[in-house]
Amino acid sequence: MAWLASARWPLLATAFVLASVVAAGRLGPWEGLLAFAVVLLATAVAPRASAPAPREVGGGVKALREELSAILSGLPDPVLVLDRRGFVTVFNERARAALGEIRIGEPVSFALRAPEVLEAVRAASSAPQTVLYVERAPVERWREAHVAQTRLSPGAGVLTVVALRDLTEQRRSERMRGDFVANASHELRTPLASLLGFIETLQGPAKNDVAAREKFLEIMRAQANRMSRLIDDLLSLSRIELKAHVKPRSVVDLAELVRGVADSLQPLARERGVEIALTLAQASVRGDRDELIRVAENLIENAVKYGQSGGRVDVGVDLGAEGARLVVRDYGPGVAPEHLPRLTERFYRVDVGDSRDKGGTGLGLALVKHILQRHGGRLTIESAAGDGATFTALLEPADAPANVGQDLKRAS
Ligand code: ADP
Repeated sequence: MAWLASARWPLLATAFVLASVVAAGRLGPWEGLLAFAVVLLATAVAPRASAPAPREVGGGVKALREELSAILSGLPDPVLVLDRRGFVTVFNERARAALGEIRIGEPVSFALRAPEVLEAVRAASSAPQTVLYVERAPVERWREAHVAQTRLSPGAGVLTVVALRDLTEQRRSERMRGDFVANASHELRTPLASLLGFIETLQGPAKNDVAAREKFLEIMRAQANRMSRLIDDLLSLSRIELKAHVKPRSVVDLAELVRGVADSLQPLARERGVEIALTLAQASVRGDRDELIRVAENLIENAVKYGQSGGRVDVGVDLGAEGARLVVRDYGPGVAPEHLPRLTERFYRVDVGDSRDKGGTGLGLALVKHILQRHGGRLTIESAAGDGATFTALLEPADAPANVGQDLKRAS
């Protein structure tokens, strides 16, 4: 009866005029009453200008869907909205990218096949659900689905919102962290077990054997050194990871740095019968001096150790179109192609026993890779089994414009 309240003044005016006309005898009382009834009826059925035009039912659903779709398009995760029968009503672009073909009006089971999620959709009528599930094909993906029911307004129908979160990267890094801790513990336990064994032997059966004592103490020293190197490498890796996003800015003379490292490795090279040949052109780079020393040390030491049979290691520094390069080439057995992509993984070795015998930790090339990445550079490895190996560290020259580092990264 809101129309009656809003039309009360015109109706009162009409009643006043009609009463005056009846009083003047120009209209009979029944005619006056009839005229007022007609005006009253016309007021009741006439469209009111101030009232909003009612939404057409079909148009309303469409508009609502568009509004919902616009809101969902701003969300970073895949989201689907289902009607009360479990049919898809709205979904966002992320959902299409994650699940492939989805059609409005089709049952959710056409788009999402994981039984855990379909069960969660059924159970969401009593309480919101969260389930973890894995998609095996085309690649393994871990996802978490949150399913909850809602209504847009108190009288409206029930909608089910299915929001997905991709946990694949998180699980992968958790697994890698787990593997890393297991590997590191294993690497430390091996020399430790050997040390304990020798200590027991020296305390027991070899107590008074001078020759055995000398021999065992030498082995124990080597094992303790390996443990200490391993701990140094682990700490260096975690320090470099902590500052991975901070690019070092000091200017370093690469040729002078490499000459110093090669000199310090001459005793090892002589011991192994390897000649280190240097070809050093002037090249200054932007970097952290200590970290670049680790890069040169690891590459040249590996070439001497693993390429010993070649009898020669070429070390070059030059400045090319791509940036400053440190190239370390050996003529040893090289690396078979199937191992090449994995050499920079932590603890990856072609031959674990050989690496351990040579005092390796399995972390050298991982360190090199991380240091170069932090410098905006990269490492390339070329090798053919039986024909030696070439390790090239590419770095940003000191006088490079700001975008050269980005180019190096993009190319890697
Ligand atoms: P490690 O401490 O075992 O030397 P690195 O990360 O430095 O660890 O190297 C990983 C593995 O790469 C080595 O164990 C070895 O198998 C292989 N490798 C590295 N450099 C060379 C090389 N110059 N020639 C052949 N194999 C190499």
